[in-house]
Amino acid sequence: EATLARIERHQPALNAFITVTAEQAMAQARAADARRARGDAGPLTGVPIAHKDIFCTDGVRTSCGSRMLDSFIAPYDAFVVERLREAGAVMVGKTNMDEFAMGSSNETSHYGPVRNPWDEDTVPGGSSGGSAAAVAARLVPGATGTDTGGSIRQPAALCGISGLKPTYGRVSRYGMIAFASSLDQAGPMAASAEDLALMLEAMAGFDPRDSTCVERPVPAYREVLDQPLAGLRVGLPKEYFGEGLEPGVAAAVEAAVAELRGLGAEIREVSLPNSGLAVPVYYVIAPAEASSNLSRYDGVRFGHRCESPRDLEDLYKRSRGEGFGAEVKRRIMVGTYALSAGYYDAYYLKAQQVRRMIRDDFVRALEEVDVLVGPTAPGVAFALGEKSDDPVQMYLQDIYTIAVNLAGLPGVSVPAGFADGRPVGLQLIGNYFDEERLLAVAHRFQ
Ligand code: GLN
Repeated sequence: EATLARIERHQPALNAFITVTAEQAMAQARAADARRARGDAGPLTGVPIAHKDIFCTDGVRTSCGSRMLDSFIAPYDAFVVERLREAGAVMVGKTNMDEFAMGSSNETSHYGPVRNPWDEDTVPGGSSGGSAAAVAARLVPGATGTDTGGSIRQPAALCGISGLKPTYGRVSRYGMIAFASSLDQAGPMAASAEDLALMLEAMAGFDPRDSTCVERPVPAYREVLDQPLAGLRVGLPKEYFGEGLEPGVAAAVEAAVAELRGLGAEIREVSLPNSGLAVPVYYVIAPAEASSNLSRYDGVRFGHRCESPRDLEDLYKRSRGEGFGAEVKRRIMVGTYALSAGYYDAYYLKAQQVRRMIRDDFVRALEEVDVLVGPTAPGVAFALGEKSDDPVQMYLQDIYTIAVNLAGLPGVSVPAGFADGRPVGLQLIGNYFDEERLLAVAHRFQ
């Protein structure tokens, strides 16, 4: 009840939620009380959480931030939703997001922008901006997000919270609306590394319904949070400290690095020479996969359907024309072009080859060091509207996060002070399935 009252009070200013599920939440809360009374409560029993509106929730609207799915009621729960419910968490609602998770500021949502609780004239980042704002404003202690090119880490940074993008394959994508399937990964967003660990324990694990999900035991992440950092080899990718990084962000990141040195970590410079290619490679691969994934919204099977179509072609054209917003259309056009006969080798295939080089840079660097450390985003929260007319400026928000998705590695953003009174995020990147180490380092920054 307290959580729902707090959401009601702050929702008009923040617009962090698309749907608040008050009735279902109260029913789940009563079930949690009963479970507690029976003595079989787990660590998340009764804890209120919110899900990004990209996760299917049985009987509850799942809009993906789009007019296309405004009236779509999912007939089943996503794996992540199912697991957190089984762990006892109480879902209080679905959070706002960029349309189909395409964006870095939450301004492409059909439901209007989310506002950053630190300064309501600024953006919360995106695409998981609603989840980030909800946690930052303490409307909920934890929320789910998805990260295809930075959408958990960048909004976590801009809102001063923690967010983890797990290794590709660590968390099932079943029931998570697909954007770019080879990059999409779900993860937790919360106020501390300890809370991330708690949530990830529930969210991770094998699921035969996602063929890219890896069968591997889930560690007890909370138990390793206090491991000492003496001797930890920390690499600073020199490409992450160059042009485009705001000086205030650089200073906050350097202070965090000094703290790690103080804890006994060994700091050295490393190089990821193909870093500069990550954004262009991503903006071929992600739109290509999106154009394919979004072809299912045809006005026939589900989602928006136009009024009185003349024929089948008119039905497709108008349903998609009306249902999708400008950024989604831009991606579909770019992706369709990149995949078209005659261009496939020049764009998609070439991008996949460069993707491998980017991955190899990380593999080499992570032979020398245990974790890589740098900024999560090049700047702090920016004003609403400031970048929304300039897609390239918006795409550069993810300059430090995108390569991690291309490589399939885990990455976490933790709060590391402020620049100009706005939160700065520190990004830690680890080796495949080394979420434990990332969380242990992140734990020092609470
Ligand atoms: N900002 C990037 C994009 O617009 C990443 C989004 C994401 O991670 N979902 O594609």
